[in-house]
Amino acid sequence: MFIVKEVGELKGRIHSFESLGAVDGPGVRFVIFMQGCPLRCKYCHNRDTREYSFGTKYTVDEVVNKIKRYVAYMGEDGGVTVTGGEPLLQIDFVRELFKRLKELNIHTCLDTSGFVQIDKLKDLLDYTDLVLLDIKHMDNETHQDLIGVSNEKIKLFAKHLSDKGIPMWIRHVLVPGITDSEEHLIELREFIGSLKTVQKVEVLGYHTLGVHKWAQSEEEYPLAGVPEATIEDVKRAKRILGIE
Ligand code: SF4
Repeated sequence: MFIVKEVGELKGRIHSFESLGAVDGPGVRFVIFMQGCPLRCKYCHNRDTREYSFGTKYTVDEVVNKIKRYVAYMGEDGGVTVTGGEPLLQIDFVRELFKRLKELNIHTCLDTSGFVQIDKLKDLLDYTDLVLLDIKHMDNETHQDLIGVSNEKIKLFAKHLSDKGIPMWIRHVLVPGITDSEEHLIELREFIGSLKTVQKVEVLGYHTLGVHKWAQSEEEYPLAGVPEATIEDVKRAKRILGIE
């Protein structure tokens, strides 16, 4: 993955903010949606966050000042989650932001696809309390077709988190007929079992709520006709993964 470097004062390109998020990490969270993503997930529900140049530029100070207004709502469990797009595309900005947040004793969570070269992380993980890691498919060929890139870096990233003792939540989007085969889910269970720091595994049922964003981008939706995952589909996947 290429890493974006802005010239001059460090600024992040941000798509949007959510001040009281409840689904991206523990507790009540201030969520920052970074702009730009190098992946091409066919089921992308944040299609509007993909092009890096579309984001609004903010300095770390500007973002920290926004966050400070919501600290009282975060309580003991909450904090800040940086998501996207792919936050690791703007790794220098995220590192500086997390560094500042740790000085303020705020919990930091990185929601990522993990598609990154380990040496580019430098000390980012020293300021990261939790990683939400999307594992999209265990089979590399299917991954390549569904996501547009190989899954090798992602697996290495997961192993790196485990070796460094960084807590992680694994997330898996369940797409009927594509990411729900028993063989794949067993392989995923085994892979997760090989990691030492997984605190939670979440199965996210595929939905079509973001499809209109593809139309706005004048692009055909690649998974047109694929049904949404049902509650039963999700339960079955959880059973195979051994989490229900
Ligand atoms: S990683 Fe997220 S933002 Fe990027 S293409 Fe996939 S679903 Fe979309």
